[in-house]
Formats: sequence, C-alpha cells, structure tokens
Amino acid sequence: MTTLTLDRIAAMFENHGTAYYGGEDISQTAHALQCAQLAEQAGESEALIVAALLHDVGHLMLAESSTTDMRHQEAGADALGALFGADVTEPIRLHVAAKRYLCAIDPAYFNTLSPVSVHSLQLQGGVYDGEQAAAYAAMPHALEAVRLRRYDDLAKVVDLATPSLTHYLDMAARCTRAA
Ligand code: FE
Repeated sequence: MTTLTLDRIAAMFENHGTAYYGGEDISQTAHALQCAQLAEQAGESEALIVAALLHDVGHLMLAESSTTDMRHQEAGADALGALFGADVTEPIRLHVAAKRYLCAIDPAYFNTLSPVSVHSLQLQGGVYDGEQAAAYAAMPHALEAVRLRRYDDLAKVVDLATPSLTHYLDMAARCTRAA
C-alpha cells in the first residue's frame, strides 16, 4: 500500500496536476484548489478543507501506477492514513458514497450532476435505496462527506481564481497527526 507524505503530495500535484479532471474542462490541481476554496469560504474546519484539497489524490496516485483500480476514494484515504486522522481521511473515503446518498435523499441534486458525473454514478453502483441511505447516514463523517461532495460538484469552473497550492499545503501541514 502506498503511504503518502506532504512532499510526495506536493510532487504529485507538480507532476500530474495539469492532467484534466476526468472528462471536465479543468485540471486536477484547479479542481482540488477550487474544492478547498469552497470549503474554506463555507467556514469548514481546516481538516475538511484539507480533505477537500486531497479528495481526489487517489486519481493522482493512479497516474503514477499501472493499476486500473477505480476505487480512488479508498486508495487515497488509505494512503493518507499515516499522515492524517479520520477527520481528513474519512470524508475522502466517503465522498463517492455521498453522491449515491445525495441522489437518494435529494431529487434536485441528481439534476445538478454533470454528464460525466452521471456516468460515473452508474459505475460506482448507482443511487442508494432507502436502507442503504439510512446506513450511510449513520456512519461517522457521513455529513462532512456530503458537504465535501457538494464542494466537489461545484469545483469545475474554468479559469476561477483561487489561493495557491502552497496556501493549502501549509494548512495540510498544520493538520497532520505529527503537528
Ligand atoms: Fe473531485
């Protein structure tokens, strides 16, 4: 299993951040920064802002490996577990499940999804039924993951100004287990 450090995370954004964010018109780095900015503007904790920044770190990891594992949320959360606590890793782990949950409880939400996101929803198992939605909502960090999901969905604006990657990596350093 991969174990990430802050230096490795910075290097991955440097080396792979310019790649396009799955089917959308912005880069991985722009998407990550916009997601973090939305969390910051909403007054979220630094842990959730860092989770927003790093929610797709599993995609950057896949760019460095030959695996075709689709479960980027698990790969990312597991790789960050030595560095951060559950308040960072679990919203990341749950951000795909949060989409399946939101589609189940909020019919208007589904209509806001981009075509790419609708397609990936099917690959990710589709909309939860009532029982699955209730089980999701009972999990720790489920609500933080739902808020992260909403920032994720909005973080696709071409040419939006954001704070720098350094601003958020400094915040990440403050949120590590060692800090
Ligand atoms: Fe994302």
